[in-house]
Amino acid sequence: MGKIVIISGPSGSGKTTVCKLLEKDIQVKKSISVTTRSPRKNENNGEAYYFVSDYEFEDMISKGELAEYAKYCGYYYGTPLNALKEALKKEGFYLLEIEVQGALQIMEKFPDAISIFLLPPDKKTLSRRLVKRNTNKEQDMAVRLKTADKELEYKDRYDHCVVNDDLEETINTIRKILKLV
Ligand code: ADP
Ligand code: 5GP
Repeated sequence: MGKIVIISGPSGSGKTTVCKLLEKDIQVKKSISVTTRSPRKNENNGEAYYFVSDYEFEDMISKGELAEYAKYCGYYYGTPLNALKEALKKEGFYLLEIEVQGALQIMEKFPDAISIFLLPPDKKTLSRRLVKRNTNKEQDMAVRLKTADKELEYKDRYDHCVVNDDLEETINTIRKILKLV
């Protein structure tokens, strides 16, 4: 049976980068979420996310097609339930890169899920990484930094907290947690 791995952390903490590296292992697969936010330059529909309208997202909620969902910085994000169920039938790890409200829903529904909270080394570094990534409007960036404080309050609800300072070390730590090494 597959294992759910929740990866949360403030915007810019390195979740997407870390998940991409973990996914290099054939035992690791990442869930593709549904969202109502617009795609970034390098994001294709069906790869980074399924990009949908508010109407389509709310239709999925009412039909019970999402394992969890939340609103984050004004947009909906959710995990498709069917794909998750299919992944659990197979061996391996199924990564859910999701924010804290959704993570709490998954922890309740799937108590066996392994939860990991990714921390930036400090706030200055977080802000620098967000600026470097440069994929959000300035106003969005301010909202994300403000949201980071609230998100950090939830870190103790997770099984593991990992400080993402040196990327290679972060990957090794998580691989050890998952017993992939
Ligand atoms: P998130 O998905 O949590 O919002 P990203 O994975 O997009 O964060 O990372 C934000 C930025 O920080 C990216 O430009 C990424 O390349 C960079 N980054 C991620 N992890 C590290 C690290 N350990 N050291 C330096 N830069 C990093
Ligand atoms: P971003 O817009 O930077 O891609 O994502 C914003 C936030 O939404 C991040 O914290 C990310 O982990 C979270 N997120 C992405 N997909 C989902 C999802 O399916 N459900 C929930 N609850 N959060 C998600």
